Amino acid sequence: MNRLVLATRNSGKANEIKDILHDLSLEILTASDFPEIPPLIEDGESLEENALKKARTVFQVTKLPTLADDSGLEVFYLTKEPGVFSARYAGAKASYEENNRKLLKELKGVPPRRRNAQFRCVMALVTAEDALTWVEGRREGKILEEPRGSTGFGYDPLFQPDGYEQTYAEMPSELKNRISHRRRALDKIKPLLKEYFGF
Ligand code: IMP
Repeated sequence: MNRLVLATRNSGKANEIKDILHDLSLEILTASDFPEIPPLIEDGESLEENALKKARTVFQVTKLPTLADDSGLEVFYLTKEPGVFSARYAGAKASYEENNRKLLKELKGVPPRRRNAQFRCVMALVTAEDALTWVEGRREGKILEEPRGSTGFGYDPLFQPDGYEQTYAEMPSELKNRISHRRRALDKIKPLLKEYFGF
């Protein structure tokens, strides 16, 4: 069986990725299957740097093809902040709610037409010491003036993707996973995996 490791210990994220890759005949493992993998720290200056670093760290231990991702919310009015700092926007250990509150504060009084934003997901694939590649997936939308919906996580209640009436947090997860920035990145990774594994 062809094996692929996901450089994450987040089971929600792993399940979402497994679901999207289910049609490839792969045995998908995660960092949790390898206790010797060190903590995967996201302290880089860009999403690309974080994704590549996580993929390399896991590859060095497992020597198996590894996929890593890092995502962030880029708000154009805020010159693409919080971006790589999305998880720690309101402080190192900030909750999703605190981050959302900070975002609303930064955008206070900004009219809807200037509240454009995009979620961006970078996925890095490492298949050998010197074989690495990355792709990105984006989903554009708007930041609302107050949260709506309760599914999902992070900035989902504030983000309304273009072309939809619902926020990410008002959508059934199946719909979000079909249109999300992560899905778009995975759709680009799939052909690379097919080529690598020779499907
Ligand atoms: P990570 O790529 O899962 O580490 O995401 C970093 C941070 O970006 C998360 O803590 C969230 O704040 C935000 N984020 C990433 N993807 C999403 C999403 O699909 N919905 C809402 N927030 C997200």
